[in-house]
Amino acid sequence: MPQGIQFTGDYEVTALQALIPGGWYIGFACKRCRQHFAILSDPTGTGALELSGPATFSVTCPNCETRNQYSARELVQFQAAQGGPSSTA
Ligand SMILES: [Zn+2]
Repeated sequence: MPQGIQFTGDYEVTALQALIPGGWYIGFACKRCRQHFAILSDPTGTGALELSGPATFSVTCPNCETRNQYSARELVQFQAAQGGPSSTA
């Protein structure tokens, strides 16, 4: 069975400041600079979670410091290519 997380509500979240290279994370692609940043580490470590729900997330990009709102549909799973707060992978 696929594993998934459903998000409901409005969240004020903070981007993770240090990613482990090769680790899987859940986050967003910044609407301004297009860098990926993470808000959660992927609990499965596989990048195969299904993410859904009517939630809204307010978060500031750690790369360009632009604050934006994102929906759960915009959540992305990505594998960090390098350490640091964001990734182009
Ligand atoms: Zn950005």
